[in-house]
Amino acid sequence: MKKRVILLGPPGAGKGTHAKSLTVAMHIPHISTGDMLRDARSRGTELGKQADSYMSSGALVPDALVNGIVAERLASETNGYLLDGYPRTIAQAEYLSACGEKIDAVVLIDVADDVLIERIVGRLSCPNCGAVYHRTNMPPKVSGKCDACGKDLVQRADDNEVTVRQRLEAYHKQTQPLVDYYDKLGLLSKIDGAGSVEDGFAQLKKVLEF
Ligand code: ADP
Ligand code: ZN
Repeated sequence: MKKRVILLGPPGAGKGTHAKSLTVAMHIPHISTGDMLRDARSRGTELGKQADSYMSSGALVPDALVNGIVAERLASETNGYLLDGYPRTIAQAEYLSACGEKIDAVVLIDVADDVLIERIVGRLSCPNCGAVYHRTNMPPKVSGKCDACGKDLVQRADDNEVTVRQRLEAYHKQTQPLVDYYDKLGLLSKIDGAGSVEDGFAQLKKVLEF
């Protein structure tokens, strides 16, 4: 089984959704820089304040801010991890490598842009546990409530069409180069994320060998 894993893919590809199931199936922690930054923002920490304007506009938060929180977190993980939303730039990937982290697998979850926009604009998120739903494609059992923890679901402020287009642009310009970067290192696998959640999960199971 691959233990130190990076999930790569555009916003809305299903990284967060799959990470929630993978963390249970593989017994490794889910580390989402997006969740960490949203948490910092809601607690009003210095980092949260600095990251806020970037996140609201759909831009990437500067590498130095994000690298700092990841380094602290990874240092305490000895049994592997599932990185979701990090690295997102070549500079972040180089930083990760300079930290001495040896990655076992990088999985690109591939989905076309038009599908992503539809998914994100209908997305509902749990502010408490990070679970994700979709108004029509993947509704919660009780309308507006998280299946996992019962808290009220919210639409993320950056899940609107204007900001989504910014995020997709940031992905194509700044994050997509990582596909080649990890391919050259022989670490990249690609799965098709356009189908159902079950279908995506079955592909991940093969690639990550669990
Ligand atoms: P999504 O993948 O749906 O766009 P995330 O929850 O991963 O959402 O990220 C939300 C926002 O947090 C991003 O748009 C960006 O502003 C910021 N962010 C998260 N991870 C990183 C990162 N590794 N580097 C820079 N910014 C990040
Ligand atoms: Zn929840």
